[in-house]
Parts: sequence; structure tokens; C-alpha cells
Amino acid sequence: MSLRLYNTLSGQVEEFTPLEDNRVRIYTCGPTVYDYAHIGNYRTFVFQDILRRHLKYRGYDVVHVINLTDVDDKTIRNARAAGVPLREYTDRYIEAYKVDRQLLNLEEPQKFARATEHVDDMVKLIQALEAKGFAYRNEGSIYFRVEKFPDYGKLSKIDLSGIRAGARVDADEYDKANVRDFVLWKAPKEDEPHWDTPLGPGRPGWHIECSVMAMKYLGETFDIHSGGSDLIFPHHENEIAQSEAATGKPFVRFWVHAEHLIVNGEKMSKSLGNYYTLRDLIAKGYKPAAIRYLLASVPYRKPLNFTFDGLHQAQQSIDRLRNFRFRLTKEKFPEGENPALQERAQAAREAFEEGMDDNLNTAKAEAAIFDMVRDANTAMDRGEFRDGDRGAFLDTLEHWDRIFAVMEDDDHAKLVKFGFIKPLAKGAADAISWQDEQKIAIGNGYTSAVLVESLTEEEIENQIKEREAARRRGEYARSDQIRDNLLKAGVILEDTKSGTRWKRK
Ligand code: AMP
Ligand code: ZN
Repeated sequence: MSLRLYNTLSGQVEEFTPLEDNRVRIYTCGPTVYDYAHIGNYRTFVFQDILRRHLKYRGYDVVHVINLTDVDDKTIRNARAAGVPLREYTDRYIEAYKVDRQLLNLEEPQKFARATEHVDDMVKLIQALEAKGFAYRNEGSIYFRVEKFPDYGKLSKIDLSGIRAGARVDADEYDKANVRDFVLWKAPKEDEPHWDTPLGPGRPGWHIECSVMAMKYLGETFDIHSGGSDLIFPHHENEIAQSEAATGKPFVRFWVHAEHLIVNGEKMSKSLGNYYTLRDLIAKGYKPAAIRYLLASVPYRKPLNFTFDGLHQAQQSIDRLRNFRFRLTKEKFPEGENPALQERAQAAREAFEEGMDDNLNTAKAEAAIFDMVRDANTAMDRGEFRDGDRGAFLDTLEHWDRIFAVMEDDDHAKLVKFGFIKPLAKGAADAISWQDEQKIAIGNGYTSAVLVESLTEEEIENQIKEREAARRRGEYARSDQIRDNLLKAGVILEDTKSGTRWKRK
């Protein structure tokens, strides 16, 4: 089976093949670094990571470029409000974005391209457009002449009949009812950063940056370009116009857009104020793996309605998978093999791969794994599972997790590494209440509400062994005390048939 993807350009699901044998070139529109990205943004970024991982799973070499919009109306406005130079201001949010990416297990692209580092290339593209008659000047700004590009509207399927020749729009963002000649180069304004260039002084418009950086690193025609569905118009429509007008070649073969994360029926967005950043959710005690799982679980062309219930369920789903793996590795089973069960594991792998090939249907891929887990647990309960069957199930889980990336229990370690949780000195957690810990954490500038004594895995495992020994000796008060101490340090014990399993709160 091969991968089928919905292409916004053709309006159809198409079989995906790259232009060049085995190499897939992808450009994804990254964040505008004027603030922390919200989890709506991360719905799109997680989807792009799933796309990237599935392409790799299918054996392609992926060349991936992500842009960082570090100059536009919003970054300039906020940097000025903060009284900080633009570069210094955007540096902060680029750093934060890169931390968030690691928390969510988003793989590194080959290139993060910063708009402000490509102004020379933008100037050259605008000059090429001027030379071909696609651009004109007005009061120090330069605009793209939409009328001159007959294919305009082919991505967003807008109706151009109402457009007035020569009417212009200066804003980076505008809606479909407002199709106009859009700005390529903006005349300098007082209080705004500008560049002195052969075009004259000014700064680039938003759309030109993506045309330039995409073609610079991926070539004039490349395989996949992706973003959230709000970027179809005007951003991606304008990218096509600028690029194809300049080169005379098709710009992108597959346009792939994620539907929005919504809250109470509305798109999550900064302007509506109905948003959570990743940090907000971490501060409420949610784990990055659960957030990743939630964002990945609805197929990308369907809107995803964000609720805290959904987030709880995501955490439970991950726990179920991790518990299954624990049972698979720790429980004792009779010698031998059960071929029917191994076939079951193989069938689950094929079912999840098929789901992913079907336009990245993550819901199908998850269902395939949970059906497998249910059947394997039943077989274990009925005594049908054999020692030699472990490998087949572990293998399917491991393959599935190459794409979903939620099995590794490393949230706590990452939160400590990036300073979201401040480890207290050993024993200190006993002395103060949870509410006090929270106050101290926030007072110290940590966003996390959980300030726990940070026990290493080894320390936890040793405590569990000590507790087991105490129980064998019939010292139940001692064993309960160890359990309570661990709980204070944020570690929950669960006694199962296959032994004691622990997890962090
Ligand atoms: P921005 O930082 O505004 O340039 O957006 C970065 C990415 O997030 C773009 O691909 C947007 O389409 C996407 N995006 C913005 N809001 C949402 C949302 N509520 N749901 C999904 N994607 C979004
Ligand atoms: Zn873009």
C-alpha cells in the first residue's frame, strides 16, 4: 500500500509519490514568534510531525524546512510594546518554541529559516517580479499585480469576479472578501525596523518570505507544503502567485492543510483570547505526552474540539499502553509460542499502517493498537499467552510509536531539564504542604504547579523493592509509609498481578 494524501490544490485524495526517487522535500509554515505558540498552533505542528514521521516510516528521506516569521506586523508591534529590539524579542520566543518542540517530541527539521536572515533573497525575488511586470510601486511600497496572474485563486478557489484592478491591501492578513493586490515590500514607517536595499528602504511583506525560503532550500518545485487551513488564503495563494510568476514553474505538488483546534465552536486564537499555551497546560499538571497524543488523535482534516476531558482521556490512553507494555515485559508466561497471537500482533501492525496510509488516519491507527491490546490482555487473562509471544507485540508497539512517540516515560525528566519543575532537596517535600510548594514554585518563576522532590528512577525502584521486602516480612505499616512517602514525591504505585508499577503524578 502506498500513502494517499488529500491535496488542497486538486481538492482530491491522491497517491503520493515524490518528485525525486526517494527524497521528499517539505516546507511547513512555522510560528510567528511574537509570543508563546498556543496548542492550536501545536495541533498543526504535531500533525506535520506525524506526516514527517510516517514518510520516514515508509522509507523516504525527508528534507524538511520550517520558517520562523521574525518580522511582520505582530512581532514589530509586540517588540515595541516590550521596549526591546526586534531581534532580541523574537530570540526569546524562538527559544521557547524550540523547547516546546522537544517537550512534544517534534523531530528537528533540516533547517529552521529565519525571515530576517533572508531579506537579500527576498529583494532579488521582488526584482524578478518587477522585471516581469508582476509588481508595481506605490508610495514607497511594492505590490503584486493579481490581475496579471490568471491562475490566482487556484488553491483557495476564490471568486475573482469582484476584484477591482489596482485596489491594494497593506496588511499581512486579510480575508477572502478582500482580494486585492497584496504587498511585497512595505515602505518604512517611523518606529519600525527597516532594511536599506536596492529596492529602497523598507521591510518585506509576510508572504514573500515563505516563497523565498522554500525555493532557496528546496528548489523551485518541491513535494509538500503544509500549514493550518487558515493559511490557504491569502498566505499560500499569494506564495503560489509570487513563486510561479517568477519561475514559470509549478511551485508545490501537494498542499496539505490541517483543520483547526477549536474551543466551544470557535478557532483557538490569540485574538479571541480562548487559548492555552503548552506552558499553561503543564502548569495545570498535564503531561506533554498526553497533549501530543490528544493533538494527534483526531485525523488532521477534521476540526479537533479541545476539552480537559479529552486531555484526561489522552493521558489514560497512554497509561493503558504503557501498562500493557509493563505487563508484556514483566509478567511470567508459560514457555512456548502461540502462533495465532503472533499473527494477531502482525495484523494490528498492518491495520495501523493502512490507517496511516489512508490520508494519515490517526484514529484508525490508534484503534488498531487498542484492539490489539484488548485481545492480548484477554489472552493473558485466559492463560493463552506464551513467553515467546512477547516479541511480536513489543515489535508492533515499537513500530506504532515511531509515529506516535508517546511510549517513553520521560515527561518528568524533560520538565526538570527545561526548568519547569524545580527539584527540591531530598526530604524537603515532606516538610511543606502542596499549596506552599506551588507558591514557592511560582515565586521562583517556575510555571509548574508541581514542585516535587525529584527522585530518580533508580531511587524509586529501590524504594519499591524495600516495600516489597517489608510486605514479605509482614511489616505493613512500613510498606504503607514507603508508599505515602513516594506519593508525596509525586510517585503513584499501582499493585498489579505482574508486580508493582509506578508512575509520576
Ligand atoms: P502563526 O504563528 O499564526 O503563523 O501560526 C502557526 C501555525 O499554526 C499555522 O500553520 C497556522 O495555520 C496554525 N494555527 C493557528 N491557529 C490554529 C488553530 N486554532 N488550530 C490549528 N492550527 C492553527
Ligand atoms: Zn508561510
